[in-house]
Amino acid sequence: MNTIAAISTPRGAGGISVIRISGEDAFAIADKIFSPISTKLAPSQMNGYTCAYGKIIADKEYYDDCILTVFKAPKSYTGENVAEISCHGGIAVTESILQLIYSKGASPAGAGEFTKRAFLNGKMNLIQAEAVMDIISAEGKASLRCAAALREGALFSRINAVSVKLIHLLGEIGAWVDYPEENIPEVDSHAMTETLSLAADELEKILADYDCGRIIREGIDTAIVGKPNVGKSTLMNLLSGCERSIVTDIAGTTRDIVEESVRLGDIVLRLSDTAGIRDTEDIVEGFGVKKAQNKIDSADFILAVFDNSEPLTAEDIEIADRCAERNAAAVINKTDKETLLDTAYIESRFRNTIYISAGNGDGLTQLQNVLSDIFKTNSIDFNKGILANERQRGCVRFALKALNESIAALEQGYTLDAVNILIDDAENSLLELTGERTSEAVVNEVFSHFCVGK
Ligand code: GDP
Repeated sequence: MNTIAAISTPRGAGGISVIRISGEDAFAIADKIFSPISTKLAPSQMNGYTCAYGKIIADKEYYDDCILTVFKAPKSYTGENVAEISCHGGIAVTESILQLIYSKGASPAGAGEFTKRAFLNGKMNLIQAEAVMDIISAEGKASLRCAAALREGALFSRINAVSVKLIHLLGEIGAWVDYPEENIPEVDSHAMTETLSLAADELEKILADYDCGRIIREGIDTAIVGKPNVGKSTLMNLLSGCERSIVTDIAGTTRDIVEESVRLGDIVLRLSDTAGIRDTEDIVEGFGVKKAQNKIDSADFILAVFDNSEPLTAEDIEIADRCAERNAAAVINKTDKETLLDTAYIESRFRNTIYISAGNGDGLTQLQNVLSDIFKTNSIDFNKGILANERQRGCVRFALKALNESIAALEQGYTLDAVNILIDDAENSLLELTGERTSEAVVNEVFSHFCVGK
């Protein structure tokens, strides 16, 4: 395979940037551009897992001081020879060193190509490779823990345990079907059904955690709704800890949807503060109100805000009714002021009502607890191996479907070779999940979502 190179740190000014070179010629290229100071050894003579201080110099031109780290195949991230140059962070310095590396024979690395090579060289399975991507993009502690558990092999172990059972069964059935003259005892259909049911149960358990995992990973798509002036922008600012949307006393000033992610305990909320829902003649504002209504219909979760210091209005009732069938919580705001709101009515419309003062921050912990309860993120064990994406879920679903069909086929007295085909389908799907048996197209698709340099 050709030797590739890319900048593995984010583009921009920073203390340090890392340029990674991977492939057979990694050290030969490093020899041409690295002039060691802390050692007499050229990069190609250095031992694996060692580093040296030196200068990047080529054709008498000085580029930067750097640290060069050497990893020898197969003991590297990619499984190939890898040289990593830690130079000063900065667009011009890293770009010019990278161009120099290209001019000495390396090719630009494609998206995720280092990790793809790690997968192809057997350094990690496909679930672990996907976990690398999730570790990088994790925003909250919980999503990081989920991704780290997958990187450690937690989901692979669960899937593999099922896979091993199926392979054993396939072996037994295969022997019986293929060598009828050998007097191999027929596989007991009760025992077979039991094994298949246990495997199906485990896959069902794995699927059941998917939604919770998705919420932990991607955050909860949350809409903050309420009539104008109840304190939606103030609540949003409180949650995000910064002045994000404009807070004013004039009704209807939050005209569009403002979106951002905030972390509340273990959960990431993807918040959108929508224009207040109310009938309006104003065209610009009217556009915002339409968006707000759409947002209520599409959000995972709605925080419906009411003003504790004002009597209940028709608009409040409309909002409460709109939220009735949805996953929503009522937020009664401005509890620092005298209560004029009919809070009993609001409580009767929502399963969860939270009392807060967005102005001074009272009640924020209660909001956090209610969210953890609703989304059950308190009770989930992040380390147990939770499916990380639609691809993985699709594979498990297909495997489960095939297993259930094989159980039904057994019950209906189908021949063993028909049952065998269904179990084989299930097994293939699990192997596609782990990447042990998968098409190039799937592998390319997985790595196309990575960034260059990873
Ligand atoms: P929005 O139109 O729903 O986004 O409401 P804003 O966030 O713009 O708030 C409207 C007014 O209510 C502003 O003057 C806020 O300072 C005030 N406000 C918001 N939350 C509280 C609160 O908890 N207590 C008090 N006393 N005032 C608040």
